[in-house]
Amino acid sequence: MEITFLGTGTSQGIPVIGSNHPVCHSDDPRDKRLRVSVLVSWGEYVYVIDCGPDFRQQMLTNKVSRIDGVIFTHEHADHTMGLDDIRPFFFRQGDIPIYAHKRVLESLRIRFNYIFSSEDKYPGAPSVIEHEVLNQPFVLENLDVIPINTMHNRLQVYGFRFKNFAYLTDVKTIEEEEKEKLQGVKVLVVNALRIEPHHSHFNLEEALEFIAEIKPEKAYLTHISHMLGFHAEVEKNLPENVFIAYDNLKITI
Ligand SMILES: [Zn+2]
Ligand SMILES: [Zn+2]
Repeated sequence: MEITFLGTGTSQGIPVIGSNHPVCHSDDPRDKRLRVSVLVSWGEYVYVIDCGPDFRQQMLTNKVSRIDGVIFTHEHADHTMGLDDIRPFFFRQGDIPIYAHKRVLESLRIRFNYIFSSEDKYPGAPSVIEHEVLNQPFVLENLDVIPINTMHNRLQVYGFRFKNFAYLTDVKTIEEEEKEKLQGVKVLVVNALRIEPHHSHFNLEEALEFIAEIKPEKAYLTHISHMLGFHAEVEKNLPENVFIAYDNLKITI
C-alpha cells in the first residue's frame, strides 16, 4: 500500500500575502503546505481521503490520472471544496463513488446541489455515487476499511484504518472504544495543528500523547499550521518514531 500526502496543511496555515510569520517565508519546501488530503493506493486502486480547495493542484502535481473514489472525513471547507474538480475523472471514468457520513453527504448536497440534483444537474457537472459510511467496516475493492469515530470539538469526524495504516485528522478527542480499533496499527497519521492548545484540534503535545498511547511503529503529523514552527526545527525534538509529514511525501506500508 502506498500513501501520498497530497497536502498537510490547514486553511489557517497557508502562506498568506502580507504574513510576517517566519514560517510563511521559509525556503524549506516542507514548510509550504496545501490543504490536508492523502492518496491511498494499493494494487491498481486509488482512493483519495478528502478533497479540499487544493485538490486540482494536488492531482496535477502528483500526476494522478484516475481515482476510484473520494472518502470524506467531515464537511469542513478545507476537506470538501474541491469536489467540483473531480470533473476530469468523471469525464474519463464516469460517476465517481464518494464515501461519507450521512450528515456530510447532506451538507455536500446543499453546497453542490448542481452535482447531486437529478432535476437541476448542470450539464457537464460531475456525477457521484453516494455511499453512506456507518461506524462499521466497509469494503473498498478487496480491502476492509474501518471507520474510527472521533470528535472535532462537538463535530463528529471519521478517521479511517486500512490494514496497518490509519489516518486521523481534525481530532480533538476520541473515545476509548474507538482507540481500540487502532490496536496494532503500524503507521498512524494524526493531526497536530500548533504548539498552543486549540478548541477542536490536537496541538503537538496532545498528538504526541495520543501516539504514545497507540504505540504505532511510525507516526506522521499532519493538518499543520505555520504556528507549529519550522519543519526542520520541530522534527528534531520529536520522539524517534514520529515524523512531520510534508506535501508530496510518499510512504510504502
Ligand atoms: Zn475540520
Ligand atoms: Zn481541517
